[in-house]
Amino acid sequence: MIRIDSVSKWYGTFQVLKDCTAKVDRQEVVVVCGPSGSGKSTLLKTVNGLEPFQQGAIVVDGISVGDPATNLPDLRSRVGMVFQNFELFPHLSVMANLTLAQRKVLGRDRDEANERALLYLDRVGLKALADRYPASLSGGQQQRVAIARALCMDPVCMLFDEPTSALDPEMVNEVLDVMVSLAQEGMTMMCVTHEMGFARKVADRMVFMDQGQILEDVPTDVFFGDLAGRPQRVQTFLSKEL
Ligand code: ATP
Ligand code: MG
Repeated sequence: MIRIDSVSKWYGTFQVLKDCTAKVDRQEVVVVCGPSGSGKSTLLKTVNGLEPFQQGAIVVDGISVGDPATNLPDLRSRVGMVFQNFELFPHLSVMANLTLAQRKVLGRDRDEANERALLYLDRVGLKALADRYPASLSGGQQQRVAIARALCMDPVCMLFDEPTSALDPEMVNEVLDVMVSLAQEGMTMMCVTHEMGFARKVADRMVFMDQGQILEDVPTDVFFGDLAGRPQRVQTFLSKEL
């Protein structure tokens, strides 16, 4: 579903991604972790074309992201992305947040878009809040709306960039629960997160990044298993996280 092949990226002379190779198969959940500044967000943003890259190739659902002929808005409409800071449209109601792109990008009519929106709002447990505005919701509720909004577009995969790191601790689980159920239903997901409990529960593979490089890309049980012989950076990270 997602194939990242020897991708390198520079910001000016600073190399932010160094020959990164990884893949997410259909219905797989891959968690990306690593220290701050290691390039996790940048890698995720290259996948849906939010950040260009200079070397290598990325293919998402058969579409080559780096190909100048690729219609990036079309690609992005098929890849759901949820960020740290919710990014709902503040001037629109929850319902309008969920229907805008369905109507403008997918050309759905009002009834169909509304129906979809209510279906996914219900999925994230927020059907009762359809007429509210983002500012009147808690962070956890806003983030669940953001997930529902992405799902309304029938994404082929979902990208999450630290979706719970801006939340008050008591709201983290309501968002993780939604992500766990998505994973269990077979959604293909690439998630940057520090929530190692979530990772252990649903990740098929763990990718560890450091200074722009992928140091490890291993099955989850291996990642959380024996530390012997592992890169020092991974050992340090795991000894702090666990
Ligand atoms: P965090 O855990 O803090 O979110 P990250 O692993 O997501 O970190 P990135 O945000 O991908 O890291 O950043 C990787 C590196 O690229 C950092 O050194 C950052 O300062 C640098 N960087 C990010 N965006 C830009 C930019 N637009 N221009 C220049 N450098 C950038
Ligand atoms: Mg980041």
